[in-house]
Parts: sequence; C-alpha cells; structure tokens
Amino acid sequence: MSIIGFIGLGNMGGPMAANLVKAGERVLGFDVVPASRDAAARDGVQIAGNAKGAIENADIVITMLPAGEHVLSVWNDVVPHAGQGTLFIDCSTIDVESARKAHKLAAERGIATLDAPVSGGVGGAKAATLTFMVGGSEHAFARGKPVLERMGKRVVHCGEAGNGQVAKICNNMILGVSMIAVGEAFVLGEKLGLSHQAMFDVVSASSGQCWSLTSYCPVPGPVPASPANNGYKPGFAAALMLKDLKLAKAAADSVKAKTALGTQAAEIYDHFAQQGHSGDDFSAIINLVREQSKARS
Ligand code: NAD
Repeated sequence: MSIIGFIGLGNMGGPMAANLVKAGERVLGFDVVPASRDAAARDGVQIAGNAKGAIENADIVITMLPAGEHVLSVWNDVVPHAGQGTLFIDCSTIDVESARKAHKLAAERGIATLDAPVSGGVGGAKAATLTFMVGGSEHAFARGKPVLERMGKRVVHCGEAGNGQVAKICNNMILGVSMIAVGEAFVLGEKLGLSHQAMFDVVSASSGQCWSLTSYCPVPGPVPASPANNGYKPGFAAALMLKDLKLAKAAADSVKAKTALGTQAAEIYDHFAQQGHSGDDFSAIINLVREQSKARS
C-alpha cells in the first residue's frame, strides 16, 4: 500500500481519489472547498487540514486542479515539504508552459515528476476508465504507471516533460474542429432535405466517419447514448472545450504553428459560451450552426 496525497477533489479528482481508495491505497486528500472534502471523506479519503498536510508523508502526490496558475501555486507551496523520494503527478489539463515550469521547480529540488492529463471525462473518472497521456522521464513513468492504472484503462508515455499536455491539446483541437464540421454537415443536410438517420448511415460507413459522429453524434437518434438525446447535458461542457482550444491556440502561437481551423473553432466556442451556453455539452454547438443558418435564409 502506498500513501498518496491528492489535491483537488472536484468533479474529476473526487472519483479518481475514490478509485485509489477502492484499490487499497491510503489517500490523504485536500481541497479548498468544504463540500468537495466532505464528499471525498464519504468515499474513504482521509482529509488533511491543508495541502501540506496531504503530502508530508506521501510516496506519490497527485494534483487535479482547474488551470496552470493553480498547479504552480500549489506545487510552489508543497514541493519544498515533500520527501526526496516523492513522485509528483499533475493530472490537470493546463498550458504546456506551466506544465514545464512545474516539472522544473520540482526537479530543482530533486523531486521526480509527471504531467498526466486525462481524457474520458467524469464518467471515465468514476468508472476508472480514463486515458492518461503522460510526459516525463522513463524512470518517473515506470513509477507512476501502476498508480495511474488504478484510475484508468490506458496509460500512454508521450515523451519528455510537458508532452502529455501537448498530446491532450492536440487531441482536443481535433475534437473541437470535427464536432463543428459534423454539426455543419447535419445542418446542411437538414436544409437540403436529408434525414439525420440517412446522413448517419452513409457518413458513419464512409470517409467522413469520426468519433464526433459515431460515438458522440450531435443530433438525437442515431447514437442513443450521446448528450443530444439528453437535452445536451454534459458530458463535456462547452466551457471545457473552449478552455482546451485556447490552450491549443496559446501553444501554437508559442511555436508559430499555423492552426487556422483550431483558432476558428476557439472563436466559435467563445461566441457560443458568451450566449450563455458554456454549461451545455460541447456537441450543442450544432444549435449555434443551425441558428446562424436560419439567420442567413
Ligand atoms: P473542478 O473545478 O470540479 O475541480 C477542481 C478542484 O480543485 C475544485 O474542487 C477546487 O476547489 C479545487 N482547487 C482549486 N484550487 C485549489 C487549491 N489551491 N488547493 C486545493 N484545491 C483547489 O474541475 P474538474 O472538472 O475536476 O477538472 C479538473 C481538471 O481536469 C481541469 O484541469 C480540467 O480541465 C480537467 N479535465 C476535466 C474533464 C471533465 O470532464 N470535467 C475532463 C478532462 C480533463
């Protein structure tokens, strides 16, 4: 049994920490929000009085926080109090620059680190079926992998420090763009008289096939489990998609990569969020496409 310090017990961190407890680990957790601490305590997480208390005797420390500024602030606060053999793993989705800064600040104190953002959402966190995209040394990866496997079904080593975040934002940039493309195709088909089912039957077996269509179809009917059948309740909220597209844009700018479609997808989701839809599932973007298409006819 390892001792695992877990900081950030929110929608994702809460169930991830609970799965570590179920797997027989001793988990010492902390969150700034009392309700998150209480929920984690009900799942068997021992609650520490503060972040330092959660990490002091830990073999492994996991953070699952909203953004880069939170991760850097927490790591700056707790890394100096960690034992030399501790491994720090950040599972949050954050900007590549902050992820690399976090690795560096720990490395300066001889502490091993991984960035390990996830895909799979809250459902995957609860079911322990997340995919982890991991950046860091081979040695740190070998140590962290068994713990990550207790919370997920796939753990992929992506290379050096920060590369987990690179893989994550590249994946979500493809997802954001492809969901808009699928939405545009359905709306175009609707306006030209093609049924949703006929569109699905053809495209799902043709070269336009993609996850946004076949697993997460943005119209009700063809894929019964998709959020479109449930009033576009997330799922993966538009606000989180916007966050990831902005991270991809910032990363692209930092290395002068041209990502025209990723940039436009960020603008489209920004507009959608500003219309009050940030809490809708990201596949609801089809409703914006439909509304804008009405305005044009
Ligand atoms: P969340 O807001 O539910 O959880 C974050 C938690 O961190 C909150 O409970 C908050 O109180 C806590 N926190 C903030 N600052 C803190 C501090 N200084 N010390 C201790 N706790 C602190 O967010 P979430 O949905 O759990 O997402 C966490 C991360 O995972 C984000 O980076 C997000 O982008 C990423 N992610 C989320 C999803 C999803 O579907 N929700 C999917 C993949 C990745």
